[in-house]
Amino acid sequence: MTATRWLAEYAWLPDRDEPTADVLIEAEDGRFTTVTPLAGGDAPTTGVEVLTDAIRLPGLTLPGLANAHSHAFHRALRGRTHGGRGDFWTWREQMYAVAERLDPDSYLALARAVYAEMALAGVTCVGEFHYLHHGPGGKPYDDPNAMSAALVEAAAQAGIRITVLDAAYLTASVDGRPLAGTQLRFGDGDAVRWGERAAAFTPAGGHARVGAAVHSVRAVPAEQISTVARWARERDAPLHVHLSEQPAENDACRAVHGCTPTRLLADREALGATTTAVHATHPTSGDLTLLGDSRTVVCLCPTTERDLADGIGPARRMADAGIPLSLGSDSHAVVDLFEEARAVELDERLRTRRRGHFTGAELLKAASVAGHTALGWTDAGRLAVGARADLVTVRLDSARTAGVPPVGVFFAAGAADVTTVVVDGRTVVADGRHRAVDVPAELAAAIGEVTS
Ligand SMILES: [Zn+2]
Repeated sequence: MTATRWLAEYAWLPDRDEPTADVLIEAEDGRFTTVTPLAGGDAPTTGVEVLTDAIRLPGLTLPGLANAHSHAFHRALRGRTHGGRGDFWTWREQMYAVAERLDPDSYLALARAVYAEMALAGVTCVGEFHYLHHGPGGKPYDDPNAMSAALVEAAAQAGIRITVLDAAYLTASVDGRPLAGTQLRFGDGDAVRWGERAAAFTPAGGHARVGAAVHSVRAVPAEQISTVARWARERDAPLHVHLSEQPAENDACRAVHGCTPTRLLADREALGATTTAVHATHPTSGDLTLLGDSRTVVCLCPTTERDLADGIGPARRMADAGIPLSLGSDSHAVVDLFEEARAVELDERLRTRRRGHFTGAELLKAASVAGHTALGWTDAGRLAVGARADLVTVRLDSARTAGVPPVGVFFAAGAADVTTVVVDGRTVVADGRHRAVDVPAELAAAIGEVTS
C-alpha cells in the first residue's frame, strides 16, 4: 500500500483537552507514520502551499470511533416497536420474531448494510455481541459457525473491523430454565460445547478477531461462567457480558445466588481489564467498587437504554470508581456515537440537575480508544504515530455545526456530519458517501426481507 498524506484543518490528538489546528497526517501500510501540528495550533493558516499533494480534510478530524456493543439484526426493529406500551421484555418478543427469520445469507445482507451505516457514522470497528448461532430449532448449520462467518464477511464488505463476541447463551433464566422457541437457535448445550464451537472459528481477513461473551447471568449457569471466562483468558481475548440492564435481573440473581450479578461474575473470575460489562445500569455501590478495582470496562448504550426504558447508568460514579467507559449503539434504535457520547453527559444532568460532568476529551476517549481497547484492538483509536490509520472527519459547516467551536463537536454534531472515514489506511467514506454500499437501499431491502 502506498503512502497517503492528509492535512486536517483541525485534529483531536491524544491526551489533548481540545483539537489542534493544521495537523499533517501521513500513513503507510495502514499505520500512521506522521501526526504533526504544522503551526502554533491556535487557528488554521490559510493554505499551506508546500503540501500540494495532501488531501485536505476541512472540519475536525477524530480518531476512528468504536461501536463496542452491537446486535446487527436489531436494526430491523427500528421504528417498529413503538405502537404500544411495554418494556424490555415485550420488546424482546418482537426481537425474537426477527431472529427467527434470519439465515446466513439474509444475515450477511442485513449486517453488511448495518455495518455500512455505522461506517457512514464514523465507526471504524464494531463489537458484534453474537448469539444467533444455529438454524431453526437449534439445528447447527453444516458449518456451525456460518453465522459468525457471515458477520465477518459483512464487516469486510462494509470496510470496517469487527470483533465477533461469541456469546454463550445456555439457559432462559437465572434459575436455569431451559431455552425454548427462538432461543433454541442461541444455545450450544453447555459452556464446554460452546467453547469447542467458538474455538473452531478462525475469521477470514485481518479485519476480524474473536472474543467471548457471557450473554448474561440469566443465560449462563453460575458454575459455567468460569468456563467461558477461562476460554477468553487462555486466548487473551476480550470477554463481554450484559450486566444489570434491568432491576429484575438483579432481583432474580439475589433470589437464586444470594448476591448481585456483578458479585457473581467476580466470584467466577469473569471481571478484569479485558472484560467489558455492557449497560451496568443498576449497580450497587459495592458493584462499582468491584468493577473499578478490577479495571473492568463498562460499555454504556444510552440511546438503547432510553429506548428500552432501562434507566440511567451512573456514568460519573463509574468513571470516578476507575471504570473505563466505552460506548455502543446496541439495538441500533440510533446509530450515532455523537448522540451516545453526549447522552452520557446529558443523562447525568437530568439525574443530578447539574451540568458539566464530562469533558469533550473524556467523551471522545469513550467513543474511540476505550472502545477499541475493549474489543481487543489496542493499537487503534488514537491519532498517533504507529497506531492503525483510522480517521473520521466531521464537517463544521453544516446547519448543525456551523459556528460551533471544534471542542464542542460532541454537543452539536451528528452522524450525518461525517464526511470522510478511513479504516486501516483505506478510504471507506468520502464526501459523506459510502464507497461500496448504497446504504439506504440495502437497509430497506434487507429489512424488508426479514419483516415482510
Ligand atoms: Zn446487548
